[in-house]
Amino acid sequence: MKKYPLAAADAAALNELLAQVQTRTKDFLGYPVSKDFDYTPLLPFLQYPLNNLGDPFVPATYAVGSREMEKYVVSFFANLFRAPEDDWWGYVTNGGSEGNLYGLYLARELYPKGMVYYSEATHYSVQKNLHLLNMPGIIIRTLPNGEIDYEDLENTIRMNRHLPVIMLANIGTTMTEARDDVKRIKSILKNLAIHHHYIHADGALSGSYSAFLDPRPAFDFVDGADSIAISGHKFIGSPIPCGVVVARKSNRDRIARSVAYIGSMDTTITGSRNGHSPLFLWYALKSLGIDGLQERARHSLEVAAYAVERLKENGIPAWRNPDAITVVFPDPPVSIRRKWQLASENGWSHIICMPNVSKAQIDEFMESLISAFEMA
Ligand SMILES: *Cc1c(COP(=O)(O)O)cnc(C)c1O
Repeated sequence: MKKYPLAAADAAALNELLAQVQTRTKDFLGYPVSKDFDYTPLLPFLQYPLNNLGDPFVPATYAVGSREMEKYVVSFFANLFRAPEDDWWGYVTNGGSEGNLYGLYLARELYPKGMVYYSEATHYSVQKNLHLLNMPGIIIRTLPNGEIDYEDLENTIRMNRHLPVIMLANIGTTMTEARDDVKRIKSILKNLAIHHHYIHADGALSGSYSAFLDPRPAFDFVDGADSIAISGHKFIGSPIPCGVVVARKSNRDRIARSVAYIGSMDTTITGSRNGHSPLFLWYALKSLGIDGLQERARHSLEVAAYAVERLKENGIPAWRNPDAITVVFPDPPVSIRRKWQLASENGWSHIICMPNVSKAQIDEFMESLISAFEMA
């Protein structure tokens, strides 16, 4: 292969960036991204233009890709989300936001006159998705823990009961990792005799591990969801942002369009699709298995419980939702937020105990927090 040598200054810039990425990855507690992966066996694939364009389940004329692995990844999650055996479909997306866009798109095609309901704790990308799709929406209040206020939801739907309901449920909100109860939402719809409804579950972070919890949160197809989106680079971990969306195949069939140029079906949002990210997810699922994923969830929950304890014993009123790996506490000094890359909203910050976070790292965080308070 032809080599393109870099000028010395450019090579140095690249090295400098690598060093910066390495340090910044080390002190990183504020965003839900796993950093403990090792995909070096996949390095040879970086030499090839993998592209899964079109529908993963329909072969394309462009044959350099990872469709078989993508199909495995989708089937793995369809299974985990208890999708109806003969009525599921999905693909590997560029992230949770695209999966949410896709779920809402299917819902709109099903119910063009539908009204979208979502809580005020919903991820910022959803409003943009609704704008792109030109769908009307109503924001519902949240309870103090970040979960949707079911009473407000019921009253608001009642006032609009002539319209089909499109519900965007949060399976782990961005700030407090609160889960909206899909079963409870379903029963509200039943109460109000709403027959035309669609529930999309945004499981970007918690959707990947909720199935391993006991009691199992109500979030999947059996509980009433019609589609579920997760992010791949969050709980599982990937060097490239990615995600998975699983939907009912019958709903996907309504929008499918055969395209001669690619020899496949145009059922996804983008044309060209990343062929490397399905490989990362496939590799993680195959090497970890259900047991490995379960163990990651258990570890994260244990570290989160430990973090709450440590913060509280130092006088900081920290809390977390049941079975959440996100620990919420009042904003610490700016120096701490900068060092540990902590997001902040309405006076609250959080750390997210991803599978790579250890108790030792929590201790280190506590030490820097204590000394910052002493200096303040
Ligand atoms: C991260 C997140 C998203 C967006 O997912 P991306 O993978 O970043 O596109 C959507 N919803 C929630 C609740 C999230 O936490």
